Amino acid sequence: GFRPASRISSIGVSEILQIGARAAAMKREGRPVIILGAGEPDFETPDHIKQAAWDAMQRGDTKYTALDGTPALKEAIRTKFQRENHLSFDASEITVATGAKQILFNAMMATVGAGDEVIIPTPYWTSYSDIVQICEGKPILVPCDADSGFRLTAEKLEAAITPRTRWLLLNSPSNPSGAAYSAEDYRPLLDVLLRHPHVWIMVDDMYEHIVYDDFRFVTPLQLEPRLRERTLTINGVSKAYAMTGWRIGYAGGPKALIKAMAVVQSQATSCPSSISQAAAVAALNGPQDFLAERTESFRRRRDLVVSGLNAIDGLDCRTPEGAFYTFSGCGGILGRITPDGRRITTDREFCAYLLEEADVAVVPGSAFGLSPYFRISYASAEADLRVALERIAAACR
Ligand code: PLP
Repeated sequence: GFRPASRISSIGVSEILQIGARAAAMKREGRPVIILGAGEPDFETPDHIKQAAWDAMQRGDTKYTALDGTPALKEAIRTKFQRENHLSFDASEITVATGAKQILFNAMMATVGAGDEVIIPTPYWTSYSDIVQICEGKPILVPCDADSGFRLTAEKLEAAITPRTRWLLLNSPSNPSGAAYSAEDYRPLLDVLLRHPHVWIMVDDMYEHIVYDDFRFVTPLQLEPRLRERTLTINGVSKAYAMTGWRIGYAGGPKALIKAMAVVQSQATSCPSSISQAAAVAALNGPQDFLAERTESFRRRRDLVVSGLNAIDGLDCRTPEGAFYTFSGCGGILGRITPDGRRITTDREFCAYLLEEADVAVVPGSAFGLSPYFRISYASAEADLRVALERIAAACR
């Protein structure tokens, strides 16, 4: 019979995908399910980006490209890093892959082996720990709850570092918590890292453009150039430009690491899609003004969801600085009895109850390594969010 390799045998099927599949099945049966599970913007890819893809096809850019990015896209990324993050990279320090997820995968495959440790502040995007495990490394999960603003502290970082530490993984704004690190939040962590030269820093800035109010986005390398020889700064076009299906992510980092990542990529995908790369050039070099408009629309929805959740007895939602998720505490709900007499004892049971009885699909904190919480992705129509909040309120009563 079938026997999986040991490197994947400890990895379960993503809870997010399971909930999504159940919700989709309920919808097919005619139930009015509102799905607040998916991690993608509800906007369309802007027309000028689609046009660039069409133009690329017309031009015949339909063949394999350079292994880890076309010269045109690497140049656009170099300019982006300079313009938005005040970081200067050489083309040989830039890599492009089929989504930021493949960037993470390439980097871990190129650097992490059996017993190597990767420090992951928790709650975390599920793929982080799964990718580390596929590489037979050891995720070191450091709980950072709502009281600490879902942020890692210098004390916790210091305590987690061992001689086997390979990477610290940072993600700001965060999926799932929406929490972001200001320059002041980062400083003590960078000081710890300066004292531990064997620890490399993998930074996931995917949600850079989705920050609210007067929050100022920064990336660690901008604050601490002395970390340059061991920092990989990851970004992508999926979230900012509503391009999740185009599958383009990129990173800037030390040349030797970038080269090793290209080795992994050369045997996995050969190169990212030529057409998507042309589209990504247009995204990075084209007009950027719509980003602020879209973020403003996300901010209205964030405020609606945070105030709606906090009005419900038993829930407690911190106001996120960015991304399009809320990560709300649901400890006050645990112990309550459902109308059909079952006691809710975990965030997973709470989310199952919301799906089955209230027709609202959300993801339990357990899927992101921290309980009792649940994540809402509010990149959905405001009308749907209002109905979902009413249903959650009624279900909690
Ligand atoms: N990083 C974070 C924190 C994410 O939430 C996601 C997508 O959900 C990604 C990376 C991957 O993005 P992509 O592979 O679409 O570039």
